[in-house]
Amino acid sequence: MSESKEGMKFWLGMYPSVTFADGKCHILPGFGNTALFETELGLVLFDVPIRQLAQKTFNEVRNITNKQIKYLIFSHGHFDHAFGFEPFLKEIEEKGWEIPKIIGHENILRRFKKYKMLDQYHEWINSQQFASIAPKDKKGSTISPEYSLDPSILLVGNEAKYSFNLGGIDFDLYHDKGETDDSIWLWVPEKEVICTGDLLLSSFPNIGNPYKVQRYPLDWALALEKMLEKDAKFLIPGHGKFIEGRENVKDALSITSEALHFVHDGVVKRLNEGKWFEQIYHEMMDIFPDKFKKHRILSPIYGCYRFAIHATYRLYHGWYDTGNPTDLFPAKSDEIAIELLQITDARTYLNHAISLFEKDNFQLALHFIDIVLKGREKVNDDLYLDALILKSKILKKKATDEPSFIATNIISNAVNQLKGEIKFLKQKLVK
Ligand SMILES: [Zn+2]
Repeated sequence: MSESKEGMKFWLGMYPSVTFADGKCHILPGFGNTALFETELGLVLFDVPIRQLAQKTFNEVRNITNKQIKYLIFSHGHFDHAFGFEPFLKEIEEKGWEIPKIIGHENILRRFKKYKMLDQYHEWINSQQFASIAPKDKKGSTISPEYSLDPSILLVGNEAKYSFNLGGIDFDLYHDKGETDDSIWLWVPEKEVICTGDLLLSSFPNIGNPYKVQRYPLDWALALEKMLEKDAKFLIPGHGKFIEGRENVKDALSITSEALHFVHDGVVKRLNEGKWFEQIYHEMMDIFPDKFKKHRILSPIYGCYRFAIHATYRLYHGWYDTGNPTDLFPAKSDEIAIELLQITDARTYLNHAISLFEKDNFQLALHFIDIVLKGREKVNDDLYLDALILKSKILKKKATDEPSFIATNIISNAVNQLKGEIKFLKQKLVK
């Protein structure tokens, strides 16, 4: 299952809008979820969609009510939660309304600054990570941070809380680290609803993402435990399906928290036992319990357990991760390959890769193909082409079997790149 139907639904936010509680609370799914609360004195909006879906969500809000937005809360500063505000601002300007109070954690400001500094890099990361669903035309796909909206009310510090009342309804905001260091979640006691932002998704948490900065597994687990104390009846996740019913809410929060504790504590235990990454990773893979594997809310649509092991290790460990001084200042991998090809010719390595491939040992086969590809200057074009074709074939198979959206995209992007190289070399050989 590469991208299951549920996976695509998740990514495109193809869930229906839902009105719940007393008919004054709404979840408006886009790429991520926006929550809308109606009060006597105006509206509270929790998150805005990605810029491309901003108009759609704006129209949905305006089909429900004409009241002014009084508060806009950013669950965190990611592009799919804090950037699709333009139609809302335009309306405010046109009607001469007062700008709503915009609430975020203080770290969101640092994040927006970082986005400006790393704009092109982030654009590239996102084009890789979301390759299968990103719009093909570049126009409009940009998440340029030039247009970010700075909050007017900041939650400050690690234990930050902020409450306000609008039209007789209390809104309680809490900051906890998890996917990001600027996360905010919302509890509305009168409506018994929690908005989690990306602290909860219909997927294994996005932790240990191969492209992204550090996430916080333990703080994340504890945040979910704090949410559990609320005994909420409704839960609006950052992405995915609306969760309704006390038992379902409890189940989603507790299993996710348990899984995060499991991976965190398992890695910590092994670090204390003096183990290095490879051993920790494989031991953790061997003990991954079925109850997590099988739970719908932990399906590896976005984040996955394998990545979470990396995240925890990286949180507490430096980059020297093998315990082998050979790896401290390693030679170039191309140079190693060229030396190996002097001992045994490229054909022998490729044949060995083919035999591993035929035994379905795809990963080992890739390592042997890479000796041939990295030793390019010692390899003739025909053999090099065969190695490229085999690598492409293996990666396609891996992509088909891969449940993680991010991993699938990484592998498929490489297949596309290989396609170009194969085409180029074939043309060269025909001439
Ligand atoms: Zn998100």
